[in-house]
Amino acid sequence: MNRKTFLSTSLSIIGVSIWPDSWKNLGYPTPILLGKGNPELYSIDIPLLKPVGVAFKEMQHSAEKEGIVLEIVSGYRSFERQKSIWNRKYKSNQKEGLKPNENINKIIEYSTLPGTSRHHWGTDVDLIDGSKVKVGDVLLTEKFHGMGPYVKMRKWMEKNAANYGFIMPYTKDKSRKGFYYEPWHFSYSPIALPMLKAYLELDLKSILSTTEVEGSLHLSSNFMALYLEQNILGITKELKAF
Ligand SMILES: [Zn+2]
Repeated sequence: MNRKTFLSTSLSIIGVSIWPDSWKNLGYPTPILLGKGNPELYSIDIPLLKPVGVAFKEMQHSAEKEGIVLEIVSGYRSFERQKSIWNRKYKSNQKEGLKPNENINKIIEYSTLPGTSRHHWGTDVDLIDGSKVKVGDVLLTEKFHGMGPYVKMRKWMEKNAANYGFIMPYTKDKSRKGFYYEPWHFSYSPIALPMLKAYLELDLKSILSTTEVEGSLHLSSNFMALYLEQNILGITKELKAF
């Protein structure tokens, strides 16, 4: 089955049976897009939307035949969780004397604004090879290249992940802006693609300008426009080919 056939087959499967009926008519409700919903996840070990979990299990099964254990380090992440990561960093930078704008720009080198993480959708995963011994931080680029422990997994994913619908958003492509290269991050395109399309319809600035998120009252329209263009849309073409 080629990729196009695969994608449309997956979409029709989702439309017919796996996708909750309530979502079919509503499209993608705003809380779901912002990590404020309470989506039903596949399992504790596979914290992804059910249809994404089904595709992931299939991929995991084939990788296992080649001695690779696809292990999820991070899957679905709620707005609340992202907010606590963000607020902790903001307060710590504030103590060091950073002004609001400097503070925000420093945090977004590595972390997303709450409400803007692809992990909110339940379609995205950070993966390592669980058959290797874990030493220190696992999500480091050097561990996926050279003599790193996850090179075999990266090469397998490069060759096979797309057959299961999983695509890397933050590629090595130098022309891509926004977040750094993340060889561990994959997105389930049959659902992530329409979700991004729906997400782009939201008025992000007014949604995020709340006192809940530290510094968010300082998010200017210019900043949000740039963040949208470089960070949210700073992904591989395939994941924004609507
Ligand atoms: Zn990630």
